[in-house]
Amino acid sequence: MAIKSAYLKDVYADVAKIDGEQYEFLQAVREVLESVEPVLERRPELKKQGIIPRMLEPERIIAFRVPWVDDSGQVRVNRGYRVQFSSAIGPYKGGLRFHPSVNLSIVKFLGFEQIFKNSLTGLPLGGGKGGANFNPKGKSDEEVMRFCQSFMTELQHHIGPDTDVPAGDIGVGSREVGFMFGQYKRLHNEFTGVITGKGTSFGGSLARTEATGYGVCYFTDEMLQAGGKSFQGQSVVISGSGNVAIYANQKATELGGTVIAMSDSNGYIYDPNGIDYKIIQEIKEGKRARISTYLDYVPSAKYVEGCSGIWTVPCGVALPCATQNELDLESAKTLVKQGCFAVAEGANMPCTQEAMEYFVQQKVFFAPAKAANAGGVATSGLEMTQDSIRMPWSFEEVDSKLHEIMQNIYHNSANAAAEYGVEGNLVVGANIAGFLKVADAMLWQGVCG
Ligand code: NDP
Repeated sequence: MAIKSAYLKDVYADVAKIDGEQYEFLQAVREVLESVEPVLERRPELKKQGIIPRMLEPERIIAFRVPWVDDSGQVRVNRGYRVQFSSAIGPYKGGLRFHPSVNLSIVKFLGFEQIFKNSLTGLPLGGGKGGANFNPKGKSDEEVMRFCQSFMTELQHHIGPDTDVPAGDIGVGSREVGFMFGQYKRLHNEFTGVITGKGTSFGGSLARTEATGYGVCYFTDEMLQAGGKSFQGQSVVISGSGNVAIYANQKATELGGTVIAMSDSNGYIYDPNGIDYKIIQEIKEGKRARISTYLDYVPSAKYVEGCSGIWTVPCGVALPCATQNELDLESAKTLVKQGCFAVAEGANMPCTQEAMEYFVQQKVFFAPAKAANAGGVATSGLEMTQDSIRMPWSFEEVDSKLHEIMQNIYHNSANAAAEYGVEGNLVVGANIAGFLKVADAMLWQGVCG
């Protein structure tokens, strides 16, 4: 696909002129502009009101210094970010990522995607994202705590339960969320749901940990059923071995699939008998060790150095759940050639634009991230509700709401695709369905909305 209308070409060129170095952000922008082209043809008022250029400019970008002291007494400095992209339909909502690769482009691409993803959930959530170029790997708990406290000491000026509610992402799990929540509570002397993904003893929602991985599988299951297929009897390959990957493994297995390969940034494991998610949970969440140690538990399995090789493993269903642009065109061709008929993005933008277009062309069932992985933020939204009403719900209640939300996202995306003449193209369908709600809210709220 390419941007066809002269108007959208100009809009894209304007963004590229200002943000030309922000490769990931431009990639995310291009995909949305290509998708919403037919909407602008039907709704000329969106052009007159400058809805698209307004959406492409974050409402606010905050960048800040994060000084902290390591265990040897050495002072260190990282850069923190929060991009408050859109509050058209609710308070800014989106995770914090701690990883050495974090920069403004990454945070902006994630924040931009988050606008549409949050809209798709049907909940009143705006879009934002943040993080720091800090690597928690190899740091002691005390170092991570000091970093998180320093990060929150600045971030607290810009967030609040009705303003901006961050959550976790890569490198930010329950440990980091707990440290940041504790610091916010101390500085504000208030116990509010200002961050989600909290421990369940202090306002966290049951099933939030599992939500993104489960949600990917609920969405995939709905998509497969609509096409007369299912997980039953399928080999499943899942990249990554973090929060999303672990629980995608659990749910895909429960739905009848066999997860035969998983990875981390060093390499991948292959176990044709099926990888038990509990072992990965112990390795990654318990010991914070490398995935290669899976061989200590299952000596008959195979470990291969290098993570991208995972896409050479033949499978029916592929769930990229690690990081952006991890699956390129060559990998996509290999997957399809070897019988892969369904791909669902658990990570954010894990397929390159070319890979995604190839899957769509080849009529592979393709579930784009902003629809397929929206279960995490949806459950964060449910955590916000529980915090507000001061009433926790059971695991089953949250899980059944999550399931229903994922089914709705599938049908809304599929219906939008059909309505705009691209039946089966969930990339376009999800973009249009997410976009329309935000665009309408902006129209109602006037030029500053
Ligand atoms: P985690 O930090 O828990 O896990 C990330 C995993 O991916 C780790 O196993 C990491 O390995 C691995 N990884 C990183 N880079 C690569 C690579 N190039 N190839 C293979 N594996 C790699 O993060 P999450 O599971 O939370 O997030 C994963 C993705 O899902 C991200 O894109 C995130 O934005 C997205 N997401 C997460 C949500 C959530 O609720 N957690 C919600 C929606 C989206 P290593 O340990 O070696 O670094």
